[in-house]
Amino acid sequence: MADLDGKAALVTGGSRGIGRAIALRLAAEGAAVAVCARTESAAESTAAEIASLGVPSLACTADVSDAGQAAETVKRTISELGGIHILVNNAGIRRDNLLLRMKEEDWDAVLATNLKGAFHCTKAAARPMMRAREGRIISISSVAGIVGNAGQANYSASKAGLIGFTKSLAREMASRGVTVNVVAPGYVPDTGMTAELPEEAVEHLMAHVPLARTGTPEEVADAVAFLASQRAAYITGQVLAVDGGMTM
Ligand code: NAP
Repeated sequence: MADLDGKAALVTGGSRGIGRAIALRLAAEGAAVAVCARTESAAESTAAEIASLGVPSLACTADVSDAGQAAETVKRTISELGGIHILVNNAGIRRDNLLLRMKEEDWDAVLATNLKGAFHCTKAAARPMMRAREGRIISISSVAGIVGNAGQANYSASKAGLIGFTKSLAREMASRGVTVNVVAPGYVPDTGMTAELPEEAVEHLMAHVPLARTGTPEEVADAVAFLASQRAAYITGQVLAVDGGMTM
């Protein structure tokens, strides 16, 4: 029996990059998986890949920064996949600039997706999880939320916010059998988010990675799959950095 047989998961931003790797990994462990993203075709294509692994899948076109769309996505996951046992708040964007040049709309957009999106999805999933006395909520933060990054005040604030959000919820939900944790990746190249990073920014990042290499979406997915599993039942309120030692 696979580790997550009989479980249903929702991965926000599961259509590509790290979220896609997480969705496929949870499916490989036996979970039914819903993916949501704003781009319908990409969500559908990843959902088809998940289905080819032999588990139920669902594609939802939704913007997690919208409370109604987030709630509807959780509702559909429950009605079409039989519940929601695992929520992975992965959807994220970046709109980088130095603070003095940062537009208010870029601050708002990043916070709305990265932090408020997690709030909307978690709020919708929390009640059914608490009622079932079972649940795993895992949010994808970043090393930028732990040590900061010049040019990413909005992004770093959203990712640090996820850590405080997680620790508070871990305390609120512990007595109901729901664990709440964060995975904080370091630099994972070749995703939509990192495709356009300037070379000097990458060199600067690499100079601070003791393992002297970049991470992969699959390595982040491994950490998420562990936290989603029964083996992690005694772990809550934690930040697991998958960063080659960057933030040790
Ligand atoms: P990516 O390839 O750009 O994927 C982002 C995903 O989120 C896509 O599926 C995107 O689909 C979805 N998304 C964006 N805004 C959304 C919204 N408002 N509502 C619903 N879905 C939305 O980025 P990635 O690198 O895989 O990043 C995934 C997560 O890991 C992010 O939270 C990111 O901050 C975090 N992270 C990444 C790195 C890295 O080096 N790559 C490092 C640390 C942390 P649509 O555009 O179609 O909506």
